[in-house]
Amino acid sequence: MSQLGHLEAGSRHDLRVGLSPDAPDEEDLRDDEGVFGYAHSYETSSRYDGPGVRVVLFLSGCLLRCTYCHNPDTWHLKDGTRVSVQQVLDRLKSFAPALRSLDGGLTISGGEAMVQMEFTRRILAGAKDMGLHTAIETSGFLGDKVDDRFLSVLDHEECVTLVTVDPRHSGAAVVQHPGSRHPISAGAPGIAIQSAFPEQEWRALVPGIPYRSEAAEARHRGYAASHDEVIPGVSSIAVPLRVPGGRPAALAVVYIRAAQDPDEVAAALTEAARRIEAQLG
Ligand code: SF4
Repeated sequence: MSQLGHLEAGSRHDLRVGLSPDAPDEEDLRDDEGVFGYAHSYETSSRYDGPGVRVVLFLSGCLLRCTYCHNPDTWHLKDGTRVSVQQVLDRLKSFAPALRSLDGGLTISGGEAMVQMEFTRRILAGAKDMGLHTAIETSGFLGDKVDDRFLSVLDHEECVTLVTVDPRHSGAAVVQHPGSRHPISAGAPGIAIQSAFPEQEWRALVPGIPYRSEAAEARHRGYAASHDEVIPGVSSIAVPLRVPGGRPAALAVVYIRAAQDPDEVAAALTEAARRIEAQLG
């Protein structure tokens, strides 16, 4: 149920309330086509939402209602403006040459971009067609398959964490924060990344970084596991993520004590990786 009209009179958020009264409540949205969606606003020169200079598209709709939220005017689709993917891409197109030359791109934020999953996917695909770097800022509204996961890519000889997702109601969090790096030779994500390649191919790709024997095992088993390698006392399970044209990457979960069978966690990660590959492929 939309909660309109509770903002203080005179709030800057007053400007974006009730713009689309016919929009569904966000929990009822059926976004199978994604040709149209609800946008809150654009920012055209952010340096804080990804590499280079970014255009940030704030989408409407979020189901979490965090008590500390400073963008409550992004919670409801009814408060957004209904726009087509084409309108968004036409607008983005005018910024594309500048974004490319400034090593920037498009970041989709919110609200929660995943509420309008298909709309978001179409915009990201259109931005990719323009040769733009793309990113999303998400609360982790991606599913509940694993407790704590992160996505890493091979960046020369290091693993770079791109996205982390924390459970909402845990007593402690153990994650590598986005942007953190560690050597590719340590930890399950690095092993998983190596395991996507036969040893010979890996040697040609990253000369000087030995192919771990664990990578050969992981290649056979389908997932990598490590303990005590990146963070003392912490274990990790990771699976390779293969996106055509993208850098070698891994999807991983880190934990201190596992209540679940590692094979089950790995199966959930593998399923999530396949879904991500299908979305990005
Ligand atoms: S996830 Fe973000 S947009 Fe949604 S309520 Fe929390 S802080 Fe606000």
